[in-house]
Amino acid sequence: MTLHSFAKINLSIHLLGKRPDGYHEIVTLMETVNLADDLEITGQEAGTTVTCSDPSVPTDGRNLAHRAAVLVRDRYGLGDRGVRIHIEKRIPVTAGLAGGSGNAAATLHGLNALWSLGLRKEDLMGLAGELGSDVPFCLYGGVAVATGRGERVAWLDAAGSRSYVLVCPPLAVTSGWAYSRWKMELTKDGSCINLISSVMQAGDTGRLASCLHNDLEPAVRAAYPEIDRAKGLLADAGMEGVLMSGSGPAVFGLAPDRTAAERIASDLRGRVEPSWRVFAVSSSPRRNAAV
Ligand code: ATP
Repeated sequence: MTLHSFAKINLSIHLLGKRPDGYHEIVTLMETVNLADDLEITGQEAGTTVTCSDPSVPTDGRNLAHRAAVLVRDRYGLGDRGVRIHIEKRIPVTAGLAGGSGNAAATLHGLNALWSLGLRKEDLMGLAGELGSDVPFCLYGGVAVATGRGERVAWLDAAGSRSYVLVCPPLAVTSGWAYSRWKMELTKDGSCINLISSVMQAGDTGRLASCLHNDLEPAVRAAYPEIDRAKGLLADAGMEGVLMSGSGPAVFGLAPDRTAAERIASDLRGRVEPSWRVFAVSSSPRRNAAV
């Protein structure tokens, strides 16, 4: 079977403090977009075999899809039931777009079907939370507010759909590094997310640009001038609401509509080096949660 694994962007991410377990307490509003990897999942006699079109992605036990398969097999006592997973990678890696987390989430859905496990949403959410902070959100995608270390997800009924241009400079910024550079300036609570949530529920794209926020952006910008260059390219193209996604380095801008996003992306592709990747993307629908 083939499953799509969608990229996400963080429209807002606030860090509330560092926790005793080393993670940060966050509140973030995320949206999946129609930039996707494809996962081809097939049964095999025994073992887990992962292949990936991008040679920079590990295919052994470090791969999140591989880890998802091992976790499911161990948790449900499935012996050495085999699976082969091929990942056709389109989402830039280590870019702040949750490519790996999405692959893990798609693998959970795929194995649930392939092995006829009958796992319900709560079972899948529990497994996803063990695999990584963004994996529970990636299970169903759409628009949601995530809290805790990102694993507690409340889905929103966002009105309408949005179009964006994504610019990905050729950098790998790990989440751990970006989070470690953050310094708390003020004591915060999570109420900052309420405004952007209501704007998304109302489908008020005109007000969205002024609500975007990323606490991780200042430190990553300071270390990597490419972030400011990417932001400048999008701002010069007339885009509003230009922001880094997650721990970066992917940067997005909010486009008036899909046609404008495609026009701007095509223009920017002619102005950046081939190693920079530019995408016109739109909101992707939420995966059916009634499992
Ligand atoms: P996030 O926004 O969740 O922090 P990211 O987009 O910044 O994620 P990923 O593309 O998920 O980062 O990759 C992060 C790391 O995970 C990389 O070091 C990569 O080698 C590793 N990785 C493991 N499995 C995968 C996978 N299936 N796809 C991509 N990267 C993977």
